[in-house]
Amino acid sequence: MASTGPAPPQPTLDSPEMLLLRSETATDEKPWLPSEVWLPQCKRGAWGSGVGVGAPIKALFNVGRLPHSCAVCKRGGLTGTKLTQCSRCKLARYCCKAHAKAHWATHKLCCARLSGLRKPDSREAWARSLVDVRLALAGAEPEAHEDATQLWIHMPRCAVCQDATRPLKRCARCQGAAFCPDHADATHAAADCDAAMLEVACFGMISDMGAPLAIASQSKARGPLPSGWKAYLDMKIWDFEVPEYILALAPPTAMLTEGLSLPLLAVRFLGGARETRPRFGSLVVHVVGAATPELVALHRFRELFAWLDARELRLVFVGPDLRLDGPDPEDTKEVLQPGEPGGDKTPFYFSGHRGAYHDVRPTLPDDLKTPQIVLAQHSGCHDLSLVHSWRPTLDLLLDMDVPCVFTGYNEFEANADAAILDDRGANFLAPPHLNPFRGLRPYSEVPGAKTPFYYVNQYALCVHGRRPPPAGESAS
Ligand SMILES: [Zn+2]
Ligand SMILES: [Zn+2]
Ligand SMILES: [Zn+2]
Ligand SMILES: [Zn+2]
Repeated sequence: MASTGPAPPQPTLDSPEMLLLRSETATDEKPWLPSEVWLPQCKRGAWGSGVGVGAPIKALFNVGRLPHSCAVCKRGGLTGTKLTQCSRCKLARYCCKAHAKAHWATHKLCCARLSGLRKPDSREAWARSLVDVRLALAGAEPEAHEDATQLWIHMPRCAVCQDATRPLKRCARCQGAAFCPDHADATHAAADCDAAMLEVACFGMISDMGAPLAIASQSKARGPLPSGWKAYLDMKIWDFEVPEYILALAPPTAMLTEGLSLPLLAVRFLGGARETRPRFGSLVVHVVGAATPELVALHRFRELFAWLDARELRLVFVGPDLRLDGPDPEDTKEVLQPGEPGGDKTPFYFSGHRGAYHDVRPTLPDDLKTPQIVLAQHSGCHDLSLVHSWRPTLDLLLDMDVPCVFTGYNEFEANADAAILDDRGANFLAPPHLNPFRGLRPYSEVPGAKTPFYYVNQYALCVHGRRPPPAGESAS
C-alpha cells in the first residue's frame, strides 16, 4: 500500500488531536505516547538546542548516570551531541570541557580509584567487578561511593553479553542500548527501546527545568480513586497547573506520575478507592526512612485532598539521612507551617526530623505522634547493611495500630521486605503486588536484574499490626 502522494500533514504536539491520540493509545502500562513524536518537543528546550543548559540539575537529582550521556546535562546521541570521556577512568562522559570541569569536584573523589579496575567482559565478570569496586572505594568519602557505583553499573556495555571491553555500536533509535561486534545484529525489545529513550529524555527535561516536575492536581475528584494511571489521567489531565499539552508528552507524564506515586499510595490504603469518600479530622501521615530527594515539592501531597476529606494534613518525614538544611529551603522547613500553594486553603503542615524513627517518634508533639498511615518508600529494610538499624523501627511500627505501606523499586525488594516483616510477625493487609500507581519514569536496572528497568514504588505491600499467635500457643 505504498503511497506516492505527499505525506499527510502531521499534527503538532500542541494540537487537540495529539491529546486524543495520547488517551487512545494509553494503557495502564504505558499512559504516554509510544512513539518519538514528543522528542522534538523536548529538544526545543536548552537540553536539545545544545546552547548552554538552562538550569543545572541540582546535585540531588543528578545522581543517576546514563551510559551514553554527558554526566552533567545528560545530552548525548538523542540530541546529536558528541561526547568525550574522562581520560583517566574512561567511564564518565562529557559534552563539553565546562561540564567535565563541573563534574570534577565530585568525580575526582573516585576517578583514580576506578581507573585501575578491569572492566567486565561477561555477565559473570559483572558480579565480580562490583566487589572490586567496593574494595577500591574502601576509605573513600561517602560522596565518592554514589558517583563511582552509578558510573560503574551504567558503564557502556553490550546489552546481550555485557562485554564492556570491546567497541560498541549503539541502538540508533534510543541511543541507550549498545552491542558488541559479536552481537552487532542484535536488537532489543521495542518496549525497552521506548523506555531507554524515555529515561534519557526525562533527564533532559530535568536538565531544562532544574528539577523534576512534581505537582498535585488542583481540585477535588468527582469519584473514588480509579484503578490505575490511564483512568486517573483521563479524569485529571485538565486539572493541573501546567498546560494539558505538556502532560500529553511522555517525559512530563512520567515525572508527574513519579511525584504522585507516594501520595496516591497513601490514598489507596486510606480507603480512597471506596465509593464513600473517607473522612478524617486531622490527617497525620508519617513517612519513615525518608531520604532527602523525597523532600522535593512537598505540595504534591495536596493530592490527598482530591480523594479524601480532611480538615488538615500533617505530614511528618523521619529519616537518618534526611538533610533538612537544603538545597531547597522552601521545601525543607523543620518547623510546622501551613502550605497554601495552588490556592487550596486546606491547611497542610510539614515537619521533618533527622534520625531513626524509633528514636524520633517518642519526641514528637502529641498532635503529630499518631498517624493514620505510615509510608516506608524504598525502605531497604531487607538490605544487609540496614536490617539491623531497621529492626527496632519495624517492631515499633508493628506495635502501633496503623497500616504501614512498604514499597520497593522492583519485585525482589518488595519480596525481601515482606520476608523481614513476616519474620517479625507482621499481619499482612496486602502482600507484595505490582502497584497500579507506581512511577512511570524508567530507570536502568543493574546488569543481571530480572527486568531492564525499575520504577519508583513499583511494588508495594501493606502490613497492619501483628498477626495473632496460632491457637494453643502461649505467649512468651
Ligand atoms: Zn553536558
Ligand atoms: Zn574519571
Ligand atoms: Zn555482546
Ligand atoms: Zn533502542
